[in-house]
Amino acid sequence: MHHRGIGYHDGTHITFIGHATTLIEMGDVRILTDPVLRPRFRFLKRRAAMPRTATLFSDKIDAVVLSHMHFDHMDYPSLGMIPDSTPIIAPEGAGRYLARKVGHEIIEMRVGDTVDVGSIRIQATPSNHQSGFYWPMWFSKTVLSYMIMGSQTVHFVGDTALFDGMKELGEQFDIDVSLLPVWGCGPYLRGDHMTPSEAAEALTMLSPRVAVPIHWGTLHPMGPWWKRMAFLWHPPHAFAWEASNSAPNTDVRVLHPGECTVVRSEPDRTEAEVPALMPRIKPVLA
Ligand SMILES: [Zn+2]
Ligand SMILES: [Zn+2]
Repeated sequence: MHHRGIGYHDGTHITFIGHATTLIEMGDVRILTDPVLRPRFRFLKRRAAMPRTATLFSDKIDAVVLSHMHFDHMDYPSLGMIPDSTPIIAPEGAGRYLARKVGHEIIEMRVGDTVDVGSIRIQATPSNHQSGFYWPMWFSKTVLSYMIMGSQTVHFVGDTALFDGMKELGEQFDIDVSLLPVWGCGPYLRGDHMTPSEAAEALTMLSPRVAVPIHWGTLHPMGPWWKRMAFLWHPPHAFAWEASNSAPNTDVRVLHPGECTVVRSEPDRTEAEVPALMPRIKPVLA
C-alpha cells in the first residue's frame, strides 16, 4: 500500500471532469469513471476545458470504472494516458478487447459482483441501456452502474434509461451521492437515455441525499455553430428545476465540467438549518 500525503476525510470530493468522466475522492481512495480525456475524438469535439492530466495523475488513481463499451465512455487512448498500475474495473467480456489495447489489469464485473479497492468496496449494479450494439460493444454488451461504498455511498451511472430496478437500488442502498446522466451524447437524445425530467423522476426511486447531473455540456459535433445550442447548457438546469418539485429532499448540485463539490457526511449548519430556497445552480458561462 503506497503512502499518501493527503486524504479526503472531510467528505467525498466529486469533480465533474466532463460527460461521464468524474473523479471521486473518498478517504484515501481516488476513483476515475469512464475517462475520456481527449480534446476531440470520432466526430465529437470537447467544448469543456481539458483536465490537467499532470495534476490528475500526480497522486495515484486507485481504480478506473467503466460502465459500458460505448465510445463516449470507453476511449482506449484516454485509458492509455492513465498509469498502468491502475486497475480497470469493466463489464464482463470487456477484458478481451481492452487487453489488446492497454496494459492495465482488467477486473471484469457482473451485476452483484464486488471488488475492494483500499478501504472502498465497489459493487456492480444494473443499468438499462441497450441501444447501439456496435463495435466495440461486440465484446461486451453489459452495461453497469457502480455503487462505490466507503465512508459514503456514491452511485455512478454512466448511461441508462429510466427503469423500475432503480426503486430496488434506492431501497437496497443508502445513497449519499448520485452521479446521474441527464442527457444523451452531443445533441442526440435517441436510444436509452434519460431526459432531464426522467432523470428527476429517477431521483424519486434512488432517493440520494445529493445528486450531481452528468453526461451533458461537454461534447458537440465538429463545427462552430453547435457551440451555442441549448443542449450544451440546458439539461442540468431543467433537471434541477424538475427535481426541486419531484425530489425536494435531494440536494441537486449542478457542476460545470471542471468543478468540484465536497459532500460532507454531517450536513453543515447551512444545509441542516436553512432549507435551500433554490437548487444550487451556477451562472451559465456560455
Ligand atoms: Zn452508452
Ligand atoms: Zn453515453
